[in-house]
Amino acid sequence: MISCSSDVKNHQLVIANSSLFDTKTGEVISGRTIKIDMGRIVEIKDFEASDLEYDEVINADQRLLTPGFIDVHNHLEFVFGDSIKEVNSKDFKKLRKIFADQYIPYGVLTVRSAGGREEHLSMMKSWMKRDNRFPDYYPTGGALVSVDTKFHNHTFVKDSATIVRIIKDRFKMGFKHLKLYSFIGANQLRVAVNTSNSLGVNIFGHIENVNVSISEANRFGLRNFEHAKTLFLDVIRTYEKSGVDISSLPPDDSNNWVFREYQIFNHIDIEDSILVDIINLFKLTGSTLTPTLHIHANPLGLGFVNTKIPNSRKVVESWPPLKRKNAENGFRALTRLIKRLYDEGVPLSIGSDTSDPGKSVLSEILLLNEAGIPINDVIRIATLNSAEAIGLDSIYGSIEVNKSANLILFDKNPIEDPKNILLKKIVIKDGIVWKGKNH
Ligand SMILES: [Zn+2]
Repeated sequence: MISCSSDVKNHQLVIANSSLFDTKTGEVISGRTIKIDMGRIVEIKDFEASDLEYDEVINADQRLLTPGFIDVHNHLEFVFGDSIKEVNSKDFKKLRKIFADQYIPYGVLTVRSAGGREEHLSMMKSWMKRDNRFPDYYPTGGALVSVDTKFHNHTFVKDSATIVRIIKDRFKMGFKHLKLYSFIGANQLRVAVNTSNSLGVNIFGHIENVNVSISEANRFGLRNFEHAKTLFLDVIRTYEKSGVDISSLPPDDSNNWVFREYQIFNHIDIEDSILVDIINLFKLTGSTLTPTLHIHANPLGLGFVNTKIPNSRKVVESWPPLKRKNAENGFRALTRLIKRLYDEGVPLSIGSDTSDPGKSVLSEILLLNEAGIPINDVIRIATLNSAEAIGLDSIYGSIEVNKSANLILFDKNPIEDPKNILLKKIVIKDGIVWKGKNH
C-alpha cells in the first residue's frame, strides 16, 4: 500500500532492477535493487522480483538511477523576487512550497543558500527541518561584507569582533555555512575563515578582488570559490595594478559592465601566467570552484533551458549582432577556462545563482558537458562533488547504504544522450516519490 503520509519515518520503498550510477567511479551497475527506510538507503543488492514486506515497489526496468542533484548557490530573491521582505511565520510553509516547486520537479533535492536577507533568518532556520516535501535546505544568512554596500543579502560587519560574534550567533542558531563576499577586507576575511574553521562552519566566497585577491583569500585558508569569471577578473585587477594597458576594454560602469565581462573573457589568454598561477594554486590547495555558466549563457540565448533573465543582464537584448557575437565568443572563452580547470583536476560544483534555479541547474549540467566535460563526470559534479564542496558528502552525492534516499530515476538515459536530463523523471525525496508535476 502506498502511504500518503508525509512522515518519512513510516514509509518503506524498494526500487528494483535499476541501472545504478556510481558517482565515485562514473560507472553504471545494472540490476541493482535499492531498499529505503526512514528516508535512508538501507540495502543495495542484486535484482529480485519484489519485496512485499515493503510499502511501495517501483520496477525501474533498468532505467538509470542517480543521486539527487545539488544546487550550492541559491538566493531566495531569485525564487520570490522582491515580493517578500518581511515574512510572517504563518507563511513560512507556503513559501517553502513555492521554493520546492522550483527545484524538486527538476531533481534538485539539496540546496545551499549563498546569501539571504537578515529579515529571513528565522524563516531560513525553520526550513532547515528535513521534510520529504521540500528540498533539504542549508542557509547561510547574509553574505558578510565589511564595506556597507546596502545590498540586501549582505550583512555589514564593521570589524573583526562583529564577525566573530555573528558567526558564533548564527552557528548557535544552526547555520553551518558562511558566505564571504568581495566587499570584505583582508583582515576580516582572515578572521572569518579562522572562526569558521574552529567551529566546523563551511565557508565559501565570491572573491572579485575589490579588497582581497583570490590568491590572498586562498592563503588565508578559503578553499571554496564562486564564479569562474572571478579568475579572469582577478587577472584584470592584477594588470591594472601593474600598469598593463587595458584601455581597449569597455569602461567599468553600470552601462557597460555586462559587455565588459564578456570582453574580459575574450581579452585574457588561457595561458596567461597570472591565470595559470591561480589554477596551480587551486590544485595545490585542493580548492573548489562553482562555475555558474548559465548566468552568462542565458542572456545570449546559449542556455539549454530558458530561464528568467535578471534585470541587470537584460541589456544584452539591445545589442547589435556584432556585439552579441563578441559576447558569445567571450562566453566560449569562459567555457574553455572551465574545461582547463576540469583537465587540471580542480573540483567543480553546481550553482544556479539565478531565477528558475531548478531549471538552471539542468542547463548548467548541459553547459558543462558542452564545455567538453563527459556527462558521467558532469553528473558526478552535480552530485558528489557538490556535496563535497559544501561538506555534506556523508549524507548526499552517491547511492550508498546510510545515505539520504534523494534519488532520480530517468525515463530516458542521460548518459546515452545528455539532453535526456531535461525529460521526464521520477524524483524520490527522502524515499517518497514526488507527486507533483515532473520534468
Ligand atoms: Zn550569488
